[in-house]
Amino acid sequence: MEKTAYIDRTGGPEVIQWRDEQLLPPAKGEVRMRHHAVGLNYIDTYHRSGLYPIELPGKLGSEAAGVVEAVGEGVTDFEVGDRVGVFGPARGAYATARNVAVDLLVPLPDSVDDRTAAAILLKGATTAFLIEECAKVQPGWTVLIHAAAGGVGHLAVGWLKAIGATVIATVGSEAKADKARAAGADHVILNRQEDVAARVREITGGAGVPVVLDGVGKATWEASLDSTARRGLVVSFGNASGAVDGVNLGILAAKGSLFVTRPTLFDYAVTPQEKRSLMARVFAMLEKGAITPEIGQSFALTDVAEAHRAIEAGDTVGSTVLIP
Ligand code: NDP
Repeated sequence: MEKTAYIDRTGGPEVIQWRDEQLLPPAKGEVRMRHHAVGLNYIDTYHRSGLYPIELPGKLGSEAAGVVEAVGEGVTDFEVGDRVGVFGPARGAYATARNVAVDLLVPLPDSVDDRTAAAILLKGATTAFLIEECAKVQPGWTVLIHAAAGGVGHLAVGWLKAIGATVIATVGSEAKADKARAAGADHVILNRQEDVAARVREITGGAGVPVVLDGVGKATWEASLDSTARRGLVVSFGNASGAVDGVNLGILAAKGSLFVTRPTLFDYAVTPQEKRSLMARVFAMLEKGAITPEIGQSFALTDVAEAHRAIEAGDTVGSTVLIP
């Protein structure tokens, strides 16, 4: 019997329930994957809370690393024993094992262990598309990134430094400030104590930054706009503090003809080729030490409700890994 997490209704972490499940043999185009490490992502809390609606009853979990245990008809790219990772819109990673379509899999290099993979697949692919494909950050640019000691944030700081950007990081505590500095941030702003936009203007000689990477959402939206240079870009990619809504487009003109985008990884990593291309760049950055898998905490997979409480309280640092 396998264990799989389900929700029958949306709500707090207490709605997550574990059920025993007998898996069928993998269908055509699927493999059975045994999970060795599962990544926690903020998006999992949106699925659970209902911010991002899912069909109910529904499964949770967007990222895992493990091994192929059985292959279905027509599968030629993977065989039993292959180490693989999965990330993406198909939920169900909160499970000891599952059947999964091969199109969702990425092969794992020998140099990347299961925990590291679970820490950097989804968050690394996000970092890659945000910086390289969405904001198209160039060497010499100064980038403001919020929650810089978080899962995506920590990876993004290292990535930005590796491509020659200057990084202004915001964080919620002194301990997180140390993490952001260790990742390479040039300037660190304590967002609960300082006026973020005023500090950014001070650091940039009044100009503001050409790019803001904002995964915090509601709480940082105004500061992000006020920190952006004339004709600069705000990439609003998450809702850790709540969703940004009710925006009057005229504000973009008033603040300096700004650009705003609200991207999702799942439009940048759709085909297997797009996923593998993003992951190749993530693994290359890992290999050369530009990004490090900062696993700040791990939990038993069946304690995932506790992990949800921790990430929603802002108590996690770096990535969080769940162990089956
Ligand atoms: P993090 O590890 O970054 O955790 C969220 C962090 O946000 C916290 O540690 C905290 O850092 C900060 N924060 C600020 N305000 C709050 C608040 N009110 N409640 C909780 N946390 C708050 O999470 P992830 O790395 O998993 O994700 C980061 C963001 O990226 C999320 O918004 C997520 O949805 C988004 N994302 C978007 C993707 C996309 O395709 N668009 C893909 C992947 C992630 P601090 O204490 O330093 O302020």
